[in-house]
Order: sequence, then C-alpha cells, then structure tokens
Amino acid sequence: MLEVRNLEAVYDDVMLVLRGVSLRVPAGSVVALLGANGAGKTTLLRALSGLLDVHDGEITKGSVLLDGEPVHGLLPAQLVRRGISQVMEGRRIFAELTVEENLKVGAHTAPRRAAANLERVYGLFPLLKERRKGVSGYLSGGEQQMLAVGRALMSGPRYLLLDEPSLGLAPALVGQIRDLVVEINKQGTTILLVEQNAAMALSISTHGYVMETGKIVMDRPAAELLADEDIKEFYLGLG
Ligand code: ATP
Repeated sequence: MLEVRNLEAVYDDVMLVLRGVSLRVPAGSVVALLGANGAGKTTLLRALSGLLDVHDGEITKGSVLLDGEPVHGLLPAQLVRRGISQVMEGRRIFAELTVEENLKVGAHTAPRRAAANLERVYGLFPLLKERRKGVSGYLSGGEQQMLAVGRALMSGPRYLLLDEPSLGLAPALVGQIRDLVVEINKQGTTILLVEQNAAMALSISTHGYVMETGKIVMDRPAAELLADEDIKEFYLGLG
C-alpha cells in the first residue's frame, strides 16, 4: 500500500499547493486522481516520486508511507529502487536516442533484470519492438506516450504513477492507453492514474479522488462517482 497522510507542499518556500492531502493506493488497485488544471495533482505525483526538489518545491508537513514505512525525503532513484516509478506529463523521452536506448535508460536502477523487463515491455508494446532501432523523435505522439510508459516499466515497478497519459491523443489512442493500463495492472503493477479524462479513468479504477485547490474534496469508489449525476456534473465535467 502506498499512502499519503496529511501532506502539505510548497513551491519557492511560500506557495502552498498541497494543503493536507490524504490518499491511499492499495496494492493491486488502479486509483484515479482527478481535478481541474492547477488543483495540485502533478505536485502530488512529484511528492510521491521525489521530484519536488527539482521544481523548487518541498514537502512541509505530513508523510508518504510505502507498506507502512516513511519514504518522503528519499531521492527519486531511491524511490525507483523501492518500486515507485513515474511517467511524467508531456512524455519527456530522449528524442535523439533510439527507442531501445530510451528503454534502457529506464533500466539503470535494475540492470540485472533489464533483459527480462525489456521482453515484458516489448510484449506489451509490439510496436516499440518493431521500431526499436528507430530514432524516438520520429515517433507519433501516441507512440512516444507508449515509450514513456515502457521506460517507466523498465525498472519493474510495483507502483506506477501516470500523469495524464491520454493528454492530446486521438480518441482511438485513448482507448489503447486505457487497455494498456488495465493490462499493466493485471500483470501485477499498482497504478495511480492522474487524468483529465475522468470517464476513462473511473471506468478502469477501483477508487477515485477529486482534488480542488490543493485538497481532496471527494473520495469514493469509482463506480459511485460515475453513478452520481451531481458529482459528474460539478466535479467531473461529464454532465
Ligand atoms: P495540470 O493538470 O495543469 O498539470 P495539476 O492539478 O497537476 O494541474 P499542478 O501542476 O500540481 O496542478 O499545479 C498546482 C499549482 O502549483 C498551480 O498553481 C501551478 O501553477 C503551481 N506550480 C506547479 N509547478 C510549479 C513550480 N515548479 N513552481 C511554482 N509553482 C508551480
């Protein structure tokens, strides 16, 4: 279980962006984290993957627990070794490297399992295998998104944090991403899914959280969120 308790975080020492967030991601689940732009979802993922520092941010209160042990304050590479891997918004692959080189970058914390993890990733994404010698910058947006997910899987994570994987993708590709998230979860990886596409995210999640200006304002089983007309209209823009 990955658990966030009463977390507060600031940018540039002053701007309070997380205001006491609590959230639980039980092992084996897919949990959706929803909310408008600027609510703090990306900031929460950065806090979980140790990347706040890089963005001049800092946790000022609260804790992050992995299987009951505090892990806040650990460096990104240490968190990856503990089994938490993040796919950042905007893909951020190395455009000038080949597909396979990009994937191998993701394996640096788990070099002994690199070959097995590469096979797993190629099994999930046959297209990446076909294009493995191609320069990544020439891949389409959807393919680059798959490469970013594949790279995060190269460390063999137990927990995968996905930041808006469907952003900017055509509807047909959104369906593919959805199916992949389901498949990755089936293979044993727990998933925290940040999405603007609330309907897609909730359709594959066990639980959903809605964030608003740095706070969790809704915390319910995904099926309940999807069934509630008021919530759909006011919080999820699905009315
Ligand atoms: P989005 O969907 O737009 O990514 P979000 O819910 O993920 O939204 P965050 O990106 O976490 O929200 O942003 C929360 C707030 O923190 C916003 O007001 C944003 O402008 C601010 N913020 C984000 N990154 C930084 C940073 N590096 N320095 C200062 N402020 C930041």
